[in-house]
Amino acid sequence: MFRLPVCPHCHTVYHYSDVRKIKKKKEEKCYHCGKSFKVSRLGYLVLLAIVVLLSVVVNVMILSSMSNILVSTAPIFITSFLAVVIALIFTPFFIKFK
Ligand SMILES: [Zn+2]
Repeated sequence: MFRLPVCPHCHTVYHYSDVRKIKKKKEEKCYHCGKSFKVSRLGYLVLLAIVVLLSVVVNVMILSSMSNILVSTAPIFITSFLAVVIALIFTPFFIKFK
């Protein structure tokens, strides 16, 4: 289901750690064939939107299931934190090279 990005010219598969470094750049030269390609963060933005949406839904569910607002602050903090961590972990799988 999750695939790391490949070079659009020679289809060299990039490693997880490489993609993490490349994701901040707009353009990158392939280490294998030397041709340059554009780095697309569109998939990453979609991932971010989904994660934020999911954490909001989960937080609303937690809030509505708990009567005591003070008690529910901790799980909300945890789910929001987890959402950010998940987004960071899966970022390289949502970066595309064009
Ligand atoms: Zn290449």
